[in-house]
Amino acid sequence: MGDQPTTCPICGARTDIVSDLSHTKLKLQIHECLNAQCRYIFLEIEDIIRCPICGLNSGIISDFSHTNSKLQINECINYEYKHVFLEVEN
Ligand SMILES: [Zn+2]
Ligand SMILES: [Zn+2]
Repeated sequence: MGDQPTTCPICGARTDIVSDLSHTKLKLQIHECLNAQCRYIFLEIEDIIRCPICGLNSGIISDFSHTNSKLQINECINYEYKHVFLEVEN
């Protein structure tokens, strides 16, 4: 997440992190709006790599991007299928 505080996409108020999963392969945080009239809950997703098969977010399960092969092995968060695919760096 950048230096900018996350704000509510509905009312623009500051938000609280309800659950921080940014260090897991889901790479997301659950935020709740601090505006008592709004209390909108939403996901803030980091570095989205979408599954090319189902379009859901994915997480890196193996990172070879610093090697000659320059690729990452990703697995999507679709619990039913868990598509595994390669992401190749340019
Ligand atoms: Zn709000
Ligand atoms: Zn998938």
